[in-house]
Amino acid sequence: MWTSMPAIKSRPMELVFEIPISRTKEFWDWIEKGEFRTTRCKGCGALYFPPVADCPECKTSEMEWVELDGRGEIEAFTHVIVRPASFQHREPYTIAIARLVDGIKVLAWLSEADITDVDVGLKVRVMAGKTLEGDTTYWFVPE
Ligand SMILES: [Zn+2]
Repeated sequence: MWTSMPAIKSRPMELVFEIPISRTKEFWDWIEKGEFRTTRCKGCGALYFPPVADCPECKTSEMEWVELDGRGEIEAFTHVIVRPASFQHREPYTIAIARLVDGIKVLAWLSEADITDVDVGLKVRVMAGKTLEGDTTYWFVPE
């Protein structure tokens, strides 16, 4: 026998992701010091971003931290006008993917750029450090 249940329109859901970072945590230590670094395999020389603890090519864990030049060019971007709930307190912002001269692609927020100046090919530089709110992060600024 069917009974009438009140319709549930929405309910909060909590997701917990457990991502092991102990072997790449040093990345955030460098960011906190204002340096953008990533890992390079000592075996084959492959550069990885995001940093990895093991080289998937030669199966070694012999990795080294290398400081990057950090300059690059935007390959794709989006202006986020309708922000998600967690960013409602912020002004609209721009997220970009840039290919660095170091040979890796990086996804980051683009700061200090007039929205009308942002385009594919815009020269940028990766910055690292803390935001005004105290968050440790990295971002692009126009060169
Ligand atoms: Zn390798």
